[in-house]
Amino acid sequence: MTDVKITWLGHAAFKIEGAGKKIYIDPWLENPQSPLNWQEVNDADLILVTHDHFDHTGQAAEIAKQSNGMVVANVETARKFAELGVPTENIAHGGSGLNIGGSFNFANIKITMTQAYHSTATGAPIGYVIRFPNGINIYHAGDTGIFSEMKLIGELYPLTVALLPIGDVFTMDAYQAAHALKLLKPQIAIPMHYGTFPIIAQNATEFVEYASKLAPETKVVVLKPGEGYNI
Ligand SMILES: [Zn+2]
Repeated sequence: MTDVKITWLGHAAFKIEGAGKKIYIDPWLENPQSPLNWQEVNDADLILVTHDHFDHTGQAAEIAKQSNGMVVANVETARKFAELGVPTENIAHGGSGLNIGGSFNFANIKITMTQAYHSTATGAPIGYVIRFPNGINIYHAGDTGIFSEMKLIGELYPLTVALLPIGDVFTMDAYQAAHALKLLKPQIAIPMHYGTFPIIAQNATEFVEYASKLAPETKVVVLKPGEGYNI
C-alpha cells in the first residue's frame, strides 16, 4: 500500500496524496506540460501557493472554489485570494494566511512555511514543508535561489523528498540545485520548474549529473508530467 503519492503536473505544480487528503501545490494547470485541465480538478482538499507569480497562483482560486478546498498562502497573498472570491473560511487560519515559520494543521497533516529567495508582488516568496502523520516529510522549495539555511530546514524536518526548481534564469540552476541537496539531505529529490519556458532549462539531464557527483546519497527521480511516484 502506498503511503504518499506525488504526481508532477508540470512546472512547479504537484498533486500530493496522503493521509486520505489531496494537496495541490502551485496549480498553474495552463502550463504547457500539464496533464490536467483545471476545470476537471474538483478534489482538492488543500491548495498551497508559494508566491503570487502567474506560473504559481495559476488557477488556485478557481480550483479552491470548485473543490471547496482550503487555500494556504502568505498573509498578503491570502488577502488577494479573498478578493478573488475565495471564502475566508476556505483560506488558512480563517482568512489570515500565515507567514514564514508558521504552520497550518489540516486534519493530521502539518504544513510549515519556509523562506525562499525570489520576488513576489504580495508578501514574501516562500516554500513549504508538508509533514504526514506516518513520518514522511516533503519539501517544496517554491521558486528560490540557493541559501545556506536549507541546511536548517533539513535538520528541523528530516526530508523524505525535496521538490526543487532547477531551470535557471528565475531560480536555481542545475548546479546550485544539486548543491542544495548537500544542505537539505533529502532521501529523494524531484526536479521541477524546467521545460516550460524557452529560456529555462529544457530537461533535467545536467541536474542528474551534478546530483550524482555532489549528493550521491540522494536518489533523483525525474518525473514526466502526469507521472506519479509512490513512497
Ligand atoms: Zn516560477
